[in-house]
Amino acid sequence: MQTIPKDNKKILIKLSGGALSNGAEKFTESVLEETAKQIKEVQDAGYEVALVVGGGNLFRGAELAGNVGIRRSTGDYIGMLATVQNALAVRDYFESQGLIVRVSSAIAMPQVCESYIPQRARRHLAKGRVVIFAGGTGMPYFTTDTTAAQRALELNCGTLVLAKDGVDGVYTADPDTDSSATKIDKITATEVIEQNLKVADASAIAMCRDNNLPIRVVSMQDISKLKDESLGTTVLPE
Ligand code: UDP
Repeated sequence: MQTIPKDNKKILIKLSGGALSNGAEKFTESVLEETAKQIKEVQDAGYEVALVVGGGNLFRGAELAGNVGIRRSTGDYIGMLATVQNALAVRDYFESQGLIVRVSSAIAMPQVCESYIPQRARRHLAKGRVVIFAGGTGMPYFTTDTTAAQRALELNCGTLVLAKDGVDGVYTADPDTDSSATKIDKITATEVIEQNLKVADASAIAMCRDNNLPIRVVSMQDISKLKDESLGTTVLPE
């Protein structure tokens, strides 16, 4: 069986919904501005850039499960729609900053954005457009972390970048509450799962491990400095 090698000049960035907002402020301009700036720098260095946005700032399916008769799966679909809302807002902001952007949704909504078609997404990326993947995987009981791993794999990205707001990598403990917490420079995916470290969902980590995709966990401000291995945390696919 022939496998297509990963493209080290193609990255997929996962940005959580939580990073986009700040309390009552649904979309924090400084975060959008920083993300757009970083993406431009990465593109200028010759990389293709795709983005998966979460929806946690607006809605998380599990939060409502069992409440007022709402099924878990319905809550999840509402969550997926929240990611589309975020993607549209991020698209407009990025366009206002001069980036060329397409939103590609796992849930068809032709009046709003295009549907996810892998070949089409590849073509956009090759033309220097930023593709924002919305709607998660299109399936309940998943998260946008898993979406990010899946899209990165399907598009042969060389790295999955988990861009964090307010933290610059994976720590041995919560640095906000434990002063002895230290940043981990390198760790294997198996160790992340065994130690239950809060990096991303276990299913996303396992998918990356099983398909040989390294993960870089970095502060949003360091997205364009991925080559510097002293920054952030590298999760090796082992
Ligand atoms: N979701 C889902 N399937 C997916 C992706 C997302 O059901 O493939 C739903 C799920 O309810 C999730 C919500 O969408 O809680 C928002 O996504 P997520 O929690 O991953 O957003 P983030 O925490 O990254 O902002």
